Amino acid sequence: MAIPIFYAPPENRSGDKIALSPAEAHHAVAVMRLKEGSRVMVVDGCGMAARGEIIAATKSRVEIVSHADIRNFGEPSVRLTLAAGLSVGEKFDTVVEKGTELGVRRFVPIISEKSKVKLVEPAKAAARRTRLEKVALAAMKQCRRSYRPDIATPLTLRLFLDETDREDLNLAFLPVEKAQSLDLLKAHAGVSRVNLLVGPESGFSEEETDYILKAGFVPISLGPRILRTETAGPVVTALVMDRLGELK
Ligand code: SAM
Repeated sequence: MAIPIFYAPPENRSGDKIALSPAEAHHAVAVMRLKEGSRVMVVDGCGMAARGEIIAATKSRVEIVSHADIRNFGEPSVRLTLAAGLSVGEKFDTVVEKGTELGVRRFVPIISEKSKVKLVEPAKAAARRTRLEKVALAAMKQCRRSYRPDIATPLTLRLFLDETDREDLNLAFLPVEKAQSLDLLKAHAGVSRVNLLVGPESGFSEEETDYILKAGFVPISLGPRILRTETAGPVVTALVMDRLGELK
């Protein structure tokens, strides 16, 4: 059985000792019935994992000693940003959950002309971001990686294209005639940083599509069937990760 995994941010660590939060401690002791001497892993959300054992356990306090620290535990070697149309309801939660499991490093919610979601007031935007961070944290633990993906503040498509650095590969998934297939990745085996761009429910407008292409993104087709935006984000991530050798 896999060693149970917990989350504790870097500030919970002092030397080789790590304290779990009360919620994580409760889960460890009351739900998982772990005790002093139980072997555990602790990930810090910043790419570091500690393999160790519990040295003190009550229902509200668990202390762990690290026997071995592992940098980039569970992390892919490619750094992938997924910029995807922000959808109504909880569809973007699905994109973040599945994308985290597949190794996305950064999510950028995109607001475009045809987005059903408009730039919301700051308090609502902050609440949404907090919810997405929780989704990413739970998925990080579940899939046993050590980096909690960043969730960017929602950006308009133009701001994203104007202000985001181009990476080694910049792919926009567009159901347009001149789009290429993902076979182009055969020529890019060693890339280390990738931007993927996926549209919202109603897709990008013609002007936006032109802007995306002028901004240096390569148009990619996924074939004749049109995927829902919350399907497209995880699917393109899986396909790209697989073709870059990250799902072996
Ligand atoms: N009617 C919209 C259009 O023509 O763009 C459909 C949008 S689709 C529901 C949402 C997004 O998923 C698209 O903007 C695109 O980024 C991506 N997508 C879905 N199916 C695709 C396909 N077959 N090829 C390329 N991208 C696709």
